[in-house]
Amino acid sequence: MLMAVDVAIVGGGVIGCSVAHYLSATGARVAVVERTQIGRGASAANSGVISLATKKPGLALDLALVSQQMFPTLSAELGYDVEYLVDGGMIIAQSETQARFLDELVAAQRSDGAGIAMIDAAQAIALNPLLAGRVLSASHCPTDAQANPFRVTQGFARSAEKLGAAILHDTAVEAIDVSGGRVRSVHTSRGEIRTRWIVNAAGAHANEVGKMVGVEHDVVPRRGQLVILEATDDLPNIRVSSAGALLAKHQGSTQSINAAFAYTRKPLSGTVMLGGTNEFAGFDTATTKTGIGEICRLAVSAMPYLGQLHALRSWAGLRPYSPQGPQLGLTQGPAGYAVAIGHGGDGVALAPVTGRYVAEVIAADGKDADLKQYLAREKARLAANAGQRGVTA
Ligand SMILES: Cc1cc2nc3c(=O)[nH]c(=O)nc-3n(C[C@H](O)[C@H](O)[C@H](O)COP(=O)(O)OP(=O)(O)OC[C@H]3O[C@@H](n4cnc5c(N)ncnc54)[C@H](O)[C@@H]3O)c2cc1C
Repeated sequence: MLMAVDVAIVGGGVIGCSVAHYLSATGARVAVVERTQIGRGASAANSGVISLATKKPGLALDLALVSQQMFPTLSAELGYDVEYLVDGGMIIAQSETQARFLDELVAAQRSDGAGIAMIDAAQAIALNPLLAGRVLSASHCPTDAQANPFRVTQGFARSAEKLGAAILHDTAVEAIDVSGGRVRSVHTSRGEIRTRWIVNAAGAHANEVGKMVGVEHDVVPRRGQLVILEATDDLPNIRVSSAGALLAKHQGSTQSINAAFAYTRKPLSGTVMLGGTNEFAGFDTATTKTGIGEICRLAVSAMPYLGQLHALRSWAGLRPYSPQGPQLGLTQGPAGYAVAIGHGGDGVALAPVTGRYVAEVIAADGKDADLKQYLAREKARLAANAGQRGVTA
């Protein structure tokens, strides 16, 4: 036997490492079992955007509201700088349909407590003067932010390790033992780990791990391609994306989107990240000429100045997409089986709240596991804290 723990976490992406950090802080004995290297999956392939404005009202926005409040103190909590920067974000409407969608979305987000407002085209261009394409209106969220996704993942992993967790890389989970209706151990490529709890945090591979305990998860890989432009001085930092892809996302579309416009400046390096595609292409992580070409074409049509910059890098990663969004804690399967899956394009933004919630569920031995009640409590606590500090949304 390799070891005995209280909780074995399958997957060492940003989600598994966050769960490991918060669980280890409760005193649990934890092992993170990662098939490749820590943070090598989707957690290495994303834009690192921490956005409220892109979230659908309801569960996704509530999770984001709680998680966003955890980011400003995350570097101090982990003892590791996650390079959290608040630059704000805008989502622009480039057609009448998108403008109507944004109006309704922002009204619903505001009534859920998010500090997001509609602005007109002139205000949008004043905030980001590189915008020169068709803009009818925009949503503006001044608290939208970004962090360095590599550092967020490593920060959680290092802190978990300091708190006593075992981080096992190059170790694949191959089977899970269940007896008497409860998980008992995981069989890995390096031996057996006895455990009372298993957390499935296997990203796009969540369904593969679910099948090991006889359950089906509706998580599938959704490929995203990104392009990095050369570093330059003095470009606006505020993020801009188009409402087009968001509209499809919120309508639960299972169609591939060849490309959508998103401009994210990385102020620490000076580079610009352009996104992205949303494609169902199995586990293929290749970039495509069509995807990269379309990303660049849309970016230049919305912000023509970007056409003067060289593209330096491009890559693709696999979002763990589920039509129902994130699934956290106890959902289905044997006793002792918990999940932290289905984060789609929001896993970095939602990593802190995911880790803390799943850790609390397991620390309470599965009692008190209602996510909606947990979020309602957390939102009320945040509102009370903001009230005490005299903060308004
Ligand atoms: C192009 C792109 C842009 C994105 N932009 C953003 C953004 O701006 N903001 C945001 O919040 N999110 C963004 N995302 C989404 C974000 O990257 C993901 O939601 C997040 O990384 C998911 O983390 P995870 O830990 O669930 O998955 P992963 O990081 O994929 O980790 C899962 C891990 O499980 C391991 N694993 C799988 N099966 C096994 C097994 N049997 N045994 C052991 N290990 C196993 C894998 O090797 C992998 O390392 C983006 C994603 C992409 C692709």
